[in-house]
Amino acid sequence: CFKRYLTNEQPTESDMEIFAGELTLSLAEGTRDVLVRNLYLSPDPYMRNRMREIYNSYLPPFEPGKPITGFGVSKVILSNHPDFEVNDVVAGIITWEKYSVIKDGSGLRNVSSIDVPLSYHIGILGLPGLTAYAGFFNICNPRKGENVFVSAAAGAVGQLVGQFAKLTGCYVVGSAGTDEKVELLKVELGYDDAFNYKKEPDLTVALKRYFPEGIDIYFENVGGKMLEAVLYNLSNHARIAVCGMISQYVSGCGEPIYNLSQLTIRRAKMQGFLMSDYLHLHEEFTQYILCHLKKNNIVYIEDVIDGLENAPNAFMRLFQGKNVGKQVVRL
Ligand code: NDP
Repeated sequence: CFKRYLTNEQPTESDMEIFAGELTLSLAEGTRDVLVRNLYLSPDPYMRNRMREIYNSYLPPFEPGKPITGFGVSKVILSNHPDFEVNDVVAGIITWEKYSVIKDGSGLRNVSSIDVPLSYHIGILGLPGLTAYAGFFNICNPRKGENVFVSAAAGAVGQLVGQFAKLTGCYVVGSAGTDEKVELLKVELGYDDAFNYKKEPDLTVALKRYFPEGIDIYFENVGGKMLEAVLYNLSNHARIAVCGMISQYVSGCGEPIYNLSQLTIRRAKMQGFLMSDYLHLHEEFTQYILCHLKKNNIVYIEDVIDGLENAPNAFMRLFQGKNVGKQVVRL
């Protein structure tokens, strides 16, 4: 659990606490509850916003002192639910505990029959995967040959967006915060080019260098100065998919954006979206990913940390830019 509501500060490990509790290996009679042993937890940036007391979000704040909830992959230990049997592997919303009781089995998906590493269900086949898929294909409407820019490109969502862009025949450049990530983007993830935004004195100039003819599609993950620079580099009729703005999750409102009028000048479209609006694409998306994984067309990178005791650190790493690929906690 986390101990207190945060405002604009970086979360630290001391903001979170681990409790030892009693485990009862039984389920209340007359319920459709499911007891699961958790195998993988998914630290995700949106969780930082749930640590604010006053936050106008699509999800309510976490309660200090109560177990954190988030996406996870688990094994069924006991089940009162007709859809789940003992030893089934399930994915869905669980608590950050070794074991969770899922009321009515609510939100759990039985993923036992899908032959992939189990952690993929919180990554490429889970929240980041569907987010990248829906955001890129539905919001950006990409066409072959278009110029695509992705920020936080070496993260869970970004690594996939760049590869979807390449599979579509686009030119794609990514930004990331370390040279190691930049190398990864160019060598392993197939980005046409990449740069370390922390080393660029002027992001507007940097983007002009990579996109002399302008950016057709920007997949926005960070906000702030990067968005400001992108707006000055748009081509006519550009699309910006606002997936997230992680630079604001810690600083609150973030930095002001002065040049939104570029949207008018470029007749560009900027649209926010939530993965949860695209659950109807789940089957189509799953088939797309499984097909490309089978053909080795997609590389998927995870950053795995072991142990519940290290889950707070795994979460902080997202905001320190330390994760390479999808941050995962293995229990
Ligand atoms: P990542 O795996 O990309 O991890 C976060 C990364 O963000 C860090 O590694 C770091 O990489 C970068 N970052 C952290 N702080 C800053 C900062 N202050 N300025 C710039 N970059 C920073 O996370 P995800 O792929 O899970 O999420 C990416 C984005 O997608 C987030 O904004 C998230 O909220 C959003 N999202 C939205 C969803 C939706 O439904 N709309 C669903 C899932 C995610 P670097 O080295 O590049 O700095």
